[in-house]
Amino acid sequence: MVAPISTGGNTGQMADYQRVLLAVDLTEECRRVARRAQALAIASDAELHIVHVIEPLSLAYGGDVPMDLSSVQDQIHEQACAHLAEFSEDFDVPETRRHLVFGRPESEIHRIAETEAMDLIVVGSHGRHGLALLLGSTANGVLHGASCDVLAVRVGRDIAPDD
Ligand code: AMP
Repeated sequence: MVAPISTGGNTGQMADYQRVLLAVDLTEECRRVARRAQALAIASDAELHIVHVIEPLSLAYGGDVPMDLSSVQDQIHEQACAHLAEFSEDFDVPETRRHLVFGRPESEIHRIAETEAMDLIVVGSHGRHGLALLLGSTANGVLHGASCDVLAVRVGRDIAPDD
């Protein structure tokens, strides 16, 4: 099921989109999100871009890690680079439309969307409940503060992988 969420900006038809930004965490379930984004981009004759954000280890572990993490961080970057290339090739996204950046996913997705003049961001959404809902999600974070439309594509265990 696809839940389109409009946050202003482009108020026209879906076919008006010209630059679509697909945000991927590079998990298998993200392929479902990518299939939706690709189909939408093809139908709209839009450019499809992909962004993956690497969270710095220091951010993930609360800032104060008493050791040098730079070589681990380099390895993570290398792996992410290879995964992003593979993922992008599967969805025909050329190198010039791939964005691999460091930081907090929500803010980096917003930044790329603005600097690259995107008119639609596509993210996966787990449709969380209870405590997980209170803690928030990347999809929620992307929705709040986005300066273009956001499309949240349901992912998760209750969704058939081939759907
Ligand atoms: P989450 O709320 O973290 O489960 O992620 C939901 C969706 O947010 C994913 O399906 C992606 O579309 C997007 N996302 C999460 N993490 C990242 C990331 N590191 N880089 C880019 N997009 C992400």
